[in-house]
Amino acid sequence: MENKLMLMIPGPTPVPENVLLALAKHPIGHRSGEFSQIMADVTANLKWLHQTENDVLMLTVSGTGAMEAGIINFFSPGDRVLVVHNGKFGERWAEVAHAFALDVVEVTAPWGQPIDPNAVKSALEADTAKAIKGVIVTHSETSTGVINDLETIAKHIKAHGALSIIDAVTSLGAANVPIDAWGLDVVCSGSQKGFMIPPGLGFVTVSPTAWAAYKTAKLPRYYMDLGKYSKGAAKNTTPFTPPVNLIFALQAALKMMRAEGLENIFARHQRLMHATRAAIKAMGLPLYAPEGHGSPAITAVAPTTVDAEQIRSVMKKKFDIVLAGGQDDLNGKIFRIGHLGFVADRDILTAIAALEATIVELGHTGATPGAGVAAAAKVLLS
Ligand SMILES: *Cc1c(COP(=O)(O)O)cnc(C)c1O
Repeated sequence: MENKLMLMIPGPTPVPENVLLALAKHPIGHRSGEFSQIMADVTANLKWLHQTENDVLMLTVSGTGAMEAGIINFFSPGDRVLVVHNGKFGERWAEVAHAFALDVVEVTAPWGQPIDPNAVKSALEADTAKAIKGVIVTHSETSTGVINDLETIAKHIKAHGALSIIDAVTSLGAANVPIDAWGLDVVCSGSQKGFMIPPGLGFVTVSPTAWAAYKTAKLPRYYMDLGKYSKGAAKNTTPFTPPVNLIFALQAALKMMRAEGLENIFARHQRLMHATRAAIKAMGLPLYAPEGHGSPAITAVAPTTVDAEQIRSVMKKKFDIVLAGGQDDLNGKIFRIGHLGFVADRDILTAIAALEATIVELGHTGATPGAGVAAAAKVLLS
């Protein structure tokens, strides 16, 4: 049905109506006093959302641009970085580091499994010469729906002294990422995930330790030179023309987030994850991320009796619900349900009911029809 599309992919995520209305406003001059006031409000609320006193800077980029900024501003060619990865996004940061001639060493886990924090600890303890300048970690690995134990990994990074560069693209605004409490140096995210606004803005937080590294870092930078953004932010402005309407949208979204409160936002994502996982189990479908390691932003399912791509196709055609497929080797093997950002309990019940109808239609006989909805409802109503 036209205009009934329900996006349940891990970005872009659904956008609330008052945020859409903010986007539709006439742009204003970005050097005006009116815009500076909006910047001041947005910056204060971004610090609240990021649970930090560090700078939170905005760039006109997607999440990958935010991560690239998080890498090029703090290192010099040949610097050694430890890239910790267990999926598509983590692998990307190794590619970015290679592209900028960094000396990349790796700690990995198979796709679908969490990173073992002890493996990171051992790699860092073995580096007695302190050659490793930075550790790059993906918190919520969107390609597999696995969340890594960032709190423990961050402790090991602190003990070593390297800079931590964190991809929090699908954890910020969904899971607790207390930047100051965990001592995270550089944390990157993007607007089309937990922020409830369309794609186009990237966010980077910078700790005082990271600013010290910035001063001696020699990789080339210009448009994404974070020093320029920091200078601008101090005067409630931006170095270049910002996407003014996206910032109106961000202001509206942050206001909604403040009204809901951080604890409630995190609890809601936990509930959505638990309801989704319980329903998938009740339907007799295998979950891809092991128990206790599921991301609150996304649930990956690896069906064996029915084809993942056929499920996605029927869900879209019959129910106007868009699910994500698998990436690279997981293409055709898994489908992923995004439950990140502007997602409510009702959306999960709807998606699960449609999924049950879909797998029955496709000949899945492994479960009693209705068992998925019942399992989800039980979690949501408890
Ligand atoms: C979406 C995402 C990104 C960024 O992707 P863009 O398409 O550049 O916005 C990075 N890391 C993770 C974990 C993501 O989910």
